[in-house]
Amino acid sequence: WAPAQFEEHGRELLAVLREHFESIRQVPVTVPSDTGDLSASLLSELPEQGVDFERVLTDTRELVLPYLVHWNHPSFHGYFSNSASFPGVLAETMTAALNVNAMLWKSGPAASALERVVLGWISEMVGYPEDSDSVLVNGASLATLYALAAARDAALGPSVRVEGLAGRDLPVLRLYTSDQAHSSVDKAAITLGFGTANLVKIPSDDQYRMRPDALEAAISADLANGFKPVAVVASVGTTSVGAADPVTAIADVCERNGVWLHVDAAFGGFWRLAPSLADQVEDLSLADSLVVNPHKTLYIPMEASALYCRHRGALADTFRLVAEYLKSAQDEHTVDYMNLTPQLGRSFRALKLWWVIRTFGRAGLAERLEHSVQLANWLREAVAEEPLWRVPVDSIYPLVCLRFEPSGDREVNDWLNAEIVEEVNASGEAFISHTVIDDGYVIRVSIGNIHTTRADVERLWRALREIAARRFAMPRA
Ligand code: PLP
Repeated sequence: WAPAQFEEHGRELLAVLREHFESIRQVPVTVPSDTGDLSASLLSELPEQGVDFERVLTDTRELVLPYLVHWNHPSFHGYFSNSASFPGVLAETMTAALNVNAMLWKSGPAASALERVVLGWISEMVGYPEDSDSVLVNGASLATLYALAAARDAALGPSVRVEGLAGRDLPVLRLYTSDQAHSSVDKAAITLGFGTANLVKIPSDDQYRMRPDALEAAISADLANGFKPVAVVASVGTTSVGAADPVTAIADVCERNGVWLHVDAAFGGFWRLAPSLADQVEDLSLADSLVVNPHKTLYIPMEASALYCRHRGALADTFRLVAEYLKSAQDEHTVDYMNLTPQLGRSFRALKLWWVIRTFGRAGLAERLEHSVQLANWLREAVAEEPLWRVPVDSIYPLVCLRFEPSGDREVNDWLNAEIVEEVNASGEAFISHTVIDDGYVIRVSIGNIHTTRADVERLWRALREIAARRFAMPRA
């Protein structure tokens, strides 16, 4: 394509997207239930000859769009609802067009400089020391993996880089997290050679928060057995119910025992921007390392996570390895982001953050986050007022857990709630998900899309009640 054709096709694409978003409330959030032969219908044979862009775009509209779950839909409330805001989407286009590889300062100075700028802004937003090492990565799972690798190496010393772990007379290395932690912590324990048997799951309290007394006891018992406690992973905004571990008390236990504290605030980190939550979010500054996810809550398109580590040089001690062809001049202003993680070639993630944060400003982001918090509060109150419905666990975040409990039989209620989730999702009206807690199967409604309105949430609540009443009246299959 010539640049003029590129512009022409870009306009065609933007027109399609404009129409998609202008009629988004008529677009089903979810897919038809039968998606079995999707690969076959997607013209999956290797094309020998190229086709017109119009054809590619039409096929995308007809064959792909109807079979996607529309995460960027105002009625998407599953998992953690997120948003690719329009400035972020446009920034992704610019990023792709420039195709900068942000591995070295030398390979794109302004890309690295912008990364430093936006990471500084984020540390200010979430309350983490600005003089830390920091880097943008693709997701919280990898951020936690990298942080725990640095924690492990800091505990073992530099010889681990050369000698590795095998065949050495090392104590058993232990990690700790709560029984509510995200599965990425288990994956990190597996990948880094700790093994899941050495990831101690600390019990949580009746609000699903890690119990610091149980953590202290587990570390003491391990020390008495000659094990080496390496790191604790605390969660601020758990995936299941949006609980937050008591970071201050956990940091205290870690400090007394010389254990690294990694905080997974992938979901919870940014909500302190919302005025009503400003004093309610845990103090993240106490963490040795921290992950927050702009792609979850800051209106940034996937993928963008920010990893912080207050121990300057610790990430580089694990990951810095400069091949001859990558050597470049350094001074106090340069930073080579390839040194902070295993990733060499890196996309220019900072641009979308720079565009979104500049477009909305801190105040605009705060206002939008507060809007979600208020919508969730409205829903919680509405549920609490409705006979037969309950909010079995509270959260300060806009993640509402609710349960329909018309029967005295827990199993019947579990079944009914699962049926409700299935029917809402099958209707295409909204997308919700579930979790299982002490009370049983509960419906999760995550509110976070930038376009979600009070009317959207009211419509969902109406649908939930209607389906619930109808299902309860039906005999169980
Ligand atoms: N931590 C928490 C608390 C999460 O909820 C999630 C995902 O939902 C993750 C980590 C993993 O995040 P990512 O998908 O960015 O790897």
